[in-house]
Order: sequence, then structure tokens, then C-alpha cells
Amino acid sequence: MPTPATRARKAPARAPRAVKAQPRVGIVSLGCPKALVDSERILTRLRSEGYAVTGSYEQADVVLVNTCGFLDSAKQESLEAIGEAIAENGRVIVTGCLGVEAERIRAEHPEVLAVTGPHQYEQVMEAVHQHLPPAHEPFVDLVPPQGIRLTPRHYAYLKISEGCNNRCSFCIIPSLRGDLASRPIHHVLAEAERLVAAGVKELLVISQDTSAYGLDLKYAPQSWKGRTWETRFLDLARALGETGAWVRLHYVYPYPHVDQVIPLMAEGRVLPYLDIPFQHASPRVLKAMRRPAHQGRVLERLAAWRRQVPDLAIRSTFIVGFPGESEEDFQFLLDWLEEAQLDRVGCFKYEAVAGAAANALPGAVPEAVKEERWHRFMQAQQAISAARLKARVGRRLPVILDQVEGDTAAARSQFDAPEIDGVVKLTGAAGLKPGDIVTAEITGAEAYDLTARVSKG
Ligand code: SF4
Repeated sequence: MPTPATRARKAPARAPRAVKAQPRVGIVSLGCPKALVDSERILTRLRSEGYAVTGSYEQADVVLVNTCGFLDSAKQESLEAIGEAIAENGRVIVTGCLGVEAERIRAEHPEVLAVTGPHQYEQVMEAVHQHLPPAHEPFVDLVPPQGIRLTPRHYAYLKISEGCNNRCSFCIIPSLRGDLASRPIHHVLAEAERLVAAGVKELLVISQDTSAYGLDLKYAPQSWKGRTWETRFLDLARALGETGAWVRLHYVYPYPHVDQVIPLMAEGRVLPYLDIPFQHASPRVLKAMRRPAHQGRVLERLAAWRRQVPDLAIRSTFIVGFPGESEEDFQFLLDWLEEAQLDRVGCFKYEAVAGAAANALPGAVPEAVKEERWHRFMQAQQAISAARLKARVGRRLPVILDQVEGDTAAARSQFDAPEIDGVVKLTGAAGLKPGDIVTAEITGAEAYDLTARVSKG
């Protein structure tokens, strides 16, 4: 979902401006956490070259809009954000996933100064240099060693790769971002170390396919702190587990080798949490979706994981109304859901994405049927999620504080990722601060959230 990070307000002049002592760039960041990481990298580059970053349209000399191009609704939102930035500031550079549709952007907003695509950091910087030259030599020392982050100080997204080798029929990410390109493990670990040294308490590992990490590099071994680590999922999880931070794994597919990471969860080195985008359960629909990882034995695999880590929380996303999905397929999904007992689930009604192979599939599901299935799905899952939350009442669990206000705080347990899962509404938090990890006694469960008080014991 789009997450505007640094939205600004009101800015008048459109004419080229005299460059001030420190040129100022505003940034609007839309899209998924991966896009947020791109924005952070761009911000880091900007700051390293002496640009100031402002949260105000009025003060910005130029505004960067980092767009999302995943779904048509996200594209529309991106186009609207570009329009808003033009209306409020007038000098706009577009980047991100929608950037691959430069003609569409220029047709709707001919005023944009430049359009670049996803991960084109060099091109973005070139566009900024062209339209807002740096005032003077780089102030490298202005950049904190961990770079500039848009997330709160105590958690950070760690992007381990770009692109994807899969070709799911509903997805255009591989055509936007290319095949899997993993970062060598020592680079990722160096970044993780910097983040932890800067106060980060929770690392959120993200990519398009985390379990495939390193495949493109043939799992090349690298030396890090006197030890050899292979550029692969298991070694990455192991090494991150040694940083002392909470390590949360997102976008993992249930490949057999994921089994090897479960003992790290049992040992408390990695959070007992897996974000696995299942998307469906019916073998027929999964085949049409061209999903990776054989789903046949997934329920067995989940059961085996839970035998080792009874607390394992699993979050997932699903698509209902995919072309060709029959009532029987849908019922299969509901039955599967009942057995899988997932903790957190998002559900989307299938939406055709321009350029996706699935658009050519027969058997479009009528909107009214999609809607009806979505409601049935949500009702079934809500009951499962609520029961799983309720089972936590009475327990004492470690929680990390995100926001503190007087005696109350919004916190998260190890089972909840920021922004996408629920919160723990905490009392007794006076004197604590964001990033603190304390033990909470869980006193109640709501539809999505838990209530708790700080444990004094
Ligand atoms: S795994 Fe499938 S849905 Fe995910 S990015 Fe790759 S192609 Fe797209």
C-alpha cells in the first residue's frame, strides 16, 4: 500500500529559482517498503552531496516523487501525487516503478522536469544535478554513517536483493525490476551492523523473494569479521541473528530449505515470524498464477514448523477472484485457511495490471462475485485471527515500543511487523521511550490488537 513518507505543503513559485546556500529537496515516497528503501538511498545520496531535505513543498526547490506502479490503483495514486506536487511546488522529478511509463506520466503531467525508473539512483541524481545544482562540494560528513532513514530510529528495512526470477502471471515486477540481483552478504551485514550501531533494534529483511537470496550469485562465500558466510538465506539469517537486533523475515516462500531457518527461531536468534505471500491455495489457481514453491505439502510444512516453534506467527496475502477461480477453488481456499491457521492475512480482489500475463487468461470473475468472495474470505480469516490473538491473553511477552505518550504506548510483540500487523496497546509505559523492549502482560484482545500493561515483575 502506498505510504507517503515525507509529504510537504504549499509552495508557490514555478519559475527557476535562485539556488540558495543549501539547495532543498522535498520527497514524496509512495509504494511498498522496498520503494521506501529506494527513497532512503536517494536521500542519503542527496545529503552526502550537501542537499537539504525538507518536509515542506514551500521550502523545497524541487520535489522528488517516488512512485508505485504495481496495481492500477497505485498508479493512479502516484499520478495524483505527482499532480499535487506540481500544484504545490511546480518543480517535480519523478522516479520509482511508475517511471517505466514515462509517456503516460508526461501525457498527464507535461510539466514534470524528469522521469526515471525504479532503482535508477544515478539517473535520479543526474536529474537533480541538472535542475538543482549542488551549491558546493559534498558535505560527506553531514551524513550519519547509517544513511538517512524514513522509518523511526529503532527499526529499519534491510533490502537484500532487487528483482525476481519468478514470473507470476499477475505481476509485472520482474519486467519493472529485472531478474534477481542479490547484494553480496558482506555488504548486507555491513549495513546491518551500521544500523544496529546507530540504535536500530529491529531489522526487517525485505526483497521480492527472500528465500531465493544468493541464487544469482551462486551463493558466493564472503568473509565478514573473520568468518566465512555464504550469500544465502540461511547464512544471512544466522549472521543477522548475531547482531542482537530483532530480525524479521519478509517475503519468504515455503521452499524446503526454509526448514533450516526454523531452528534459529527456536533458539531465539530470529523472530518467530514469517511473512509468506501464499496468494491462493487451490492447485489449479496457483498453477494459473505460476506461483513459485510447490504448495502441495505446505500444510504439512507449516505443521512441522509449528511443532518446532509453537509460537510461530505467519502473515500472508491472498488474491480472490483470479481469472478462472471457480466456487470450488474458492471453497478449497477457505478450507485451507481453516487448516493453516495463519495469524495475519491481507486479501485483495484480483485487479488486472497493465502488462501482466494474467490479463490474457479466460474466465474473468465478475466484480460482484469477487466482492462476495472477499467478504467471505475476510469473515473466515477474522475469526481465525481473533482466536489466535485471544490465545495470547494472559501471557507475558516481550514488546518493542513504537510510540510513547505519557503512561501509554503503542508497542508490538514479536508476532507483529510495523505498519502491516496489529499493535499492543500498552499502559504503565511512563518513563519508557520508542525502541525500548520490555515485558508486557497481555490483558485483552481486540479484533486486530492486544491490550497489555508493562510487567513489573
Ligand atoms: S514472486 Fe511473483 S509476485 Fe513476487 S515479485 Fe516475483 S513475480 Fe512478482
